[in-house]
Amino acid sequence: MSKNQFNKLIHMKTSLYIHIPFCSKKCPYCSFPVVVGQLPRGMEYVQALLSEALLYEGRKISHVYLGGGTPSVLDEAAIGVLSDGLKHNFSIDVSERTFEFNPESVLLSKAMHVRSSGFNRASLGLQSFQPKFLSYLGRGHSVPEGISAFQVLRQAGFDNISIDLMFGFPGQTMGELDADIDAALSLKSEHVSIYALTVEDKSLFAVRGVKMSDDTQAAFYNRVMARLKEAGLEQYEVSNFSRPGFASKHNMNYWQGGEYIGLGVGAHGHVDGQRYWNVDTFPSYMQRIREGGSAVAGREKLAPTAKMTECLLFGLRMNAGVDIDALEKKFKVRFDRRMLDEIGCMAREGLLIQEGSRVRTTDAGRLVLDAIAVKLL
Ligand code: SF4
Repeated sequence: MSKNQFNKLIHMKTSLYIHIPFCSKKCPYCSFPVVVGQLPRGMEYVQALLSEALLYEGRKISHVYLGGGTPSVLDEAAIGVLSDGLKHNFSIDVSERTFEFNPESVLLSKAMHVRSSGFNRASLGLQSFQPKFLSYLGRGHSVPEGISAFQVLRQAGFDNISIDLMFGFPGQTMGELDADIDAALSLKSEHVSIYALTVEDKSLFAVRGVKMSDDTQAAFYNRVMARLKEAGLEQYEVSNFSRPGFASKHNMNYWQGGEYIGLGVGAHGHVDGQRYWNVDTFPSYMQRIREGGSAVAGREKLAPTAKMTECLLFGLRMNAGVDIDALEKKFKVRFDRRMLDEIGCMAREGLLIQEGSRVRTTDAGRLVLDAIAVKLL
């Protein structure tokens, strides 16, 4: 690699995602690569992450997201070693550093430690404010513990907090959804991520044969969009709402087709135009890092047309939509006629809006994004 190429690489802005796979138990709806009962190996895992980070040494990082799993179960020593190691390994020019917390592991001293380690955004997995739904989801916190965790994060100095919520539980009524939204709004968080309960292939719910009604999910989603908008939270993506200026920069980079490094068990990355994914079990990750410093299980480089189509589909997840002309200029290829005709057709059906070269989804379109994607592929 020439010096010019190297300089270009280290000056390119990239997001960093780090997966912390530890959980105290596996929630029945979860399909993430997590591990239970291995927390005593937290420091060993952090050292493995820092070994893996050497593969990308010197890169300029614009946003950091520590997700999981449950990052907040790491002890303060491990969090400190990880944070210092990242500062040493990367050129960190970061405007947003997010740390995910589960309510049951939010302690004031730990939250203050995370904040003073440079994390300036907290994401808190609350999911619901009703005991029966927390229990259905197999969550490890009570309603008062969830509310108290939020207050502790504020006390620790987090002035940018996102809360995660879910809706569409079997048997949930519209009144119960409203009660959850009221409770969430009363916290006055800067950001809300809210997801319809889905039955993921590898989850326990899938094994149990849990089924959802699409019509109920759609009605609930419409209510969510209307209620959060009414409360002054701007929707900027299918499941994400924020106060002005608090949209997640890390996630926006992802949806805009930007580059990101993924470290850890099952992490994915997109670096130098190439996508990669790591092995997705804890033992295989630890072994691969020990033996060679890399846990990459596979790589692919998308052709410009495929990459451009992917950017179009990600762009349609965002309320701002996507500029067709700008994509064609960026990738130096043209969308084919069939795809442009499909976009025109879906605009006439009220699923998309076309304004010049910009295309975005309507509220109705956001309900059927998967079907839109199928037509455009
Ligand atoms: S949902 Fe979150 S807390 Fe539950 S098992 Fe999955 S990653 Fe862990």
